[in-house]
Amino acid sequence: MKLKKLTALIEHQLPLDWQESYDNSGLLLGNNDQEIKKVLCALDCTLAVVQEAINGKFDLIICHHPLIFKPIPNLVTSNYSTPLLKLIKADIALYAAHTNLDNALGGINSMVSEKLGLSNAKILIPTKNNLSKLVTFVPESHLEKVKSSLANAGAGQIGEYSECSFFHKGTGSFLSGAKANPFLGEAGKKTKIDEFKLEMIFANEKIKSIMIALKNSHPYQEPAYDIFNLANHNHQVGSGIIGELPCPISKNEFLAMVKDKLSLEVIKYSSTFANTNNIKKVGLVLGAGSFAIKAAQQEQAQAFITSEVKHHEFLGAPDNLLLCDIGHYESESIATQFFKKFLATLPTNLKIDITKQEKNPTNYFY
Ligand SMILES: [Zn+2]
Repeated sequence: MKLKKLTALIEHQLPLDWQESYDNSGLLLGNNDQEIKKVLCALDCTLAVVQEAINGKFDLIICHHPLIFKPIPNLVTSNYSTPLLKLIKADIALYAAHTNLDNALGGINSMVSEKLGLSNAKILIPTKNNLSKLVTFVPESHLEKVKSSLANAGAGQIGEYSECSFFHKGTGSFLSGAKANPFLGEAGKKTKIDEFKLEMIFANEKIKSIMIALKNSHPYQEPAYDIFNLANHNHQVGSGIIGELPCPISKNEFLAMVKDKLSLEVIKYSSTFANTNNIKKVGLVLGAGSFAIKAAQQEQAQAFITSEVKHHEFLGAPDNLLLCDIGHYESESIATQFFKKFLATLPTNLKIDITKQEKNPTNYFY
């Protein structure tokens, strides 16, 4: 499969529009016309992973953390550039799915939430400014056709509901030019027609396919339409997960359960948590997620799991929220399993392997 076809399939499920503004997800290195047969999945594109890819004759490495993140001043042999130089020489492409994966419902946050047995799981901080509304004007004869082709292109999706629309009958009017070829009325004449005003919501990353669907299904030479940006939250996309344990448990039971289910060596946790409190509602943000402590509190979580928690964040942790730092690597190493499963769902014949060269860059001394 050509690299550009594979990246299009990946980005159909994990749109680059979902990534945070500071991020650099997507194709980092490669030739779009390159043939891809073997893919290696990793959390980080380290030198050891690159060497494994070279030895195993892989064509692509897919990783979570983008190796190219900050501007690169030069490409000379150094700790940072050596993996890139080796990849270029070996003709191996590099792709990163970072915060677009973090923000995906069903992504790595969801995987960990399932491991912990959380139910009623939903996005902790839903994305804003990701939804738009299409309003178009359609004759009755084509209302169903336009509606269903917009729905097929992804419009009208609200949570568990699909094909959501609103339509209302009204009167449209126009004066067609002498050279026009109007579907209704005559060229060069004023025309009044019965039309339906059709409204459907859509996620911004779908705009291209929505516009193609509108143009292909609408009978008019010049379909009239408006697109409005919405201030609504998109509950299908965003940071972290919040969910509930089957029954309330004590702090110690909770810590032991997390340690066991996520195979952790150690958990750092806030000492401010009142021992009398039980834990039922749990928020989590894999990777560095201190930015979501407040959101977890607002959602009335009793525990919040993340990594890279700073001293002052522990110091300021509320007594009704158990703040847990499980380590950056430990929280996100599940990404390799996600990539393998995810790539296997795409219509490809790829051979997909998880790296055997990955290791925690942090050690613990007991
Ligand atoms: Zn990370």
